[in-house]
Amino acid sequence: MIARHTIVNVGYRSTNYWVVSAGNSRLLVDIGWPGTMAAMRARLDRIGIPLNEIRYALATHYHMDHAGLAQEFKRAGVPLLVLETQTAAIPLMKAHMKPRDHYVEITLHDNANISFAESRGVLAKIGIAGEILPTPGHSDDSVSLLLDDGSAFTGDLTHPALAGEDNGPVVAASWERLRNRGAKRVYPGHGPIRPMPTLVAEAR
Ligand SMILES: [Zn+2]
Repeated sequence: MIARHTIVNVGYRSTNYWVVSAGNSRLLVDIGWPGTMAAMRARLDRIGIPLNEIRYALATHYHMDHAGLAQEFKRAGVPLLVLETQTAAIPLMKAHMKPRDHYVEITLHDNANISFAESRGVLAKIGIAGEILPTPGHSDDSVSLLLDDGSAFTGDLTHPALAGEDNGPVVAASWERLRNRGAKRVYPGHGPIRPMPTLVAEAR
């Protein structure tokens, strides 16, 4: 049987936060701006997603608009899924925060740390058919969730046509990795759902 997932955007302030669900078992992809837990909870409430059905939260990368509420979600009982390329980026987040951001620092000792190779098995345990891939380019710690149906959650991975000379090859390789693993549709961190970019080869 092919697992069917529903995908809902609970985003606000120009940033998408995706809830991927297999029935009542859910994964949150990207985790809110700092200091906005009330807004996030209101969005989830309105859409009818109880916090206790969210089995993990995953940040595509550790920038404030993508991981700002990670610690609050942990306190609310939602474990933080951290990939092997992301651990070093977490402590750097606080350097960009100001007191008025009300950022709650993410602790390191109590996360669900996994490797990319382990990701498929971890997701399968919560009913989600897919894997997490390293997709650096926008940042070294950027990862994408790729469902087996071709839905790719790419965070801020730069469009290949917009990548600069310095990170162009890294960005192109990340898109190629997604394409080779079956990505068909892009659920980005900002803006609408879009098809996979077609200019990967030319952008090199
Ligand atoms: Zn970013």
